[in-house]
Amino acid sequence: MTGISLSHAPSLSRPMTDPFGRTISYLRLSVTDRCDLRCFYCMAEDMTFLPKADLLSLEELDRLCSTFIARGVRKLRLTGGEPLVRRNVMSLVRSLSRHLETGALRELTMTTNATQLARFAAELRDCGIRRINVSLDTLDPQKFRAITRWGDLDKVLAGIEAARAAGLAVKINTVALKNLNEEEVPSLIDWAHGKGMALTLIEVMPMGEIGEGRIDQYVPLSLLRARLAKHYTLTDLPDDTGGPARYVHVGETGGKLGFITPMTHNFCESCNRVRITCTGTLHTCLGQEDASDLRRPLRASPDDELLSAAIDRAIGLKPKGHDFIIDRRHNRPSVSRHMSVTGG
Ligand code: SAM
Repeated sequence: MTGISLSHAPSLSRPMTDPFGRTISYLRLSVTDRCDLRCFYCMAEDMTFLPKADLLSLEELDRLCSTFIARGVRKLRLTGGEPLVRRNVMSLVRSLSRHLETGALRELTMTTNATQLARFAAELRDCGIRRINVSLDTLDPQKFRAITRWGDLDKVLAGIEAARAAGLAVKINTVALKNLNEEEVPSLIDWAHGKGMALTLIEVMPMGEIGEGRIDQYVPLSLLRARLAKHYTLTDLPDDTGGPARYVHVGETGGKLGFITPMTHNFCESCNRVRITCTGTLHTCLGQEDASDLRRPLRASPDDELLSAAIDRAIGLKPKGHDFIIDRRHNRPSVSRHMSVTGG
């Protein structure tokens, strides 16, 4: 893959600051909308995926990321769909790792379902990745199959072990699902913390039509936390990540437990992130319909001025925050995109 040089022309290196004074330093790139699982709360069973011809090439994705890095992005997360099912994705990871070597990028990381991790863990580590997030909602093979519609839990567990063996720090992300894994949360905490992995619980968000309402899936984490507090000693940790998760230390396990509460607590005031899809659409807020096309300016010119100007216009429209609602009156998606379009 050909590298691009980071121009130092003023407009191409200016920090990206939105109208609310928030500086953008975190980019999440969805490298594909496809996934080898079909988690029922994420996708409809008969999802239609983008024609492959609509996807940006890996070289174009590299150029997009590099432009954002030149504009001040310090943390880059690759996601999907499932990032590890994109053909040749490791060539993109390897190419992006040059920005770690120069120090322009502080962290390159990934969110994955771990089904392919056994194959890729060592190479990810070799490319400078140090931490990854793995999504896992249950340790029960039957429930796993039901949630993912066909997934094999053993493959995921093997992937997690391969990542740990390769020296990657793994954080587990678990979406709290009513009547499905609510009761299992303590076992998930004990399991993750027993292996030295942090675990973060996430509230289900009303994103995309999935063929059923969200009311039957949604558990407020305030409720789960109150239940957990009866069994564990939870001590708030200082909020030093700048991200949406609020962390506690669990006295009995010695591990870290996070809560991401898009529904019950809005954390937008410190939002430093934007998202790009595999077709080059920039979304400046996960919970709003805002979208700006970067593919056209990217392809219109080999230098990055048009692209950088389009980025400025989009950042200038970053909404103040999201307002997800799930109740009987609002049992429809707040946002029409599925989570698999932008990734977690
Ligand atoms: N395939 C990768 C994975 O499984 O981590 C990356 C993409 S996946 C869409 C990213 C995360 O979004 C997963 O943790 C998934 O559980 C979460 N997710 C999907 N739909 C969601 C929703 N409606 N509300 C909350 N989280 C969701």
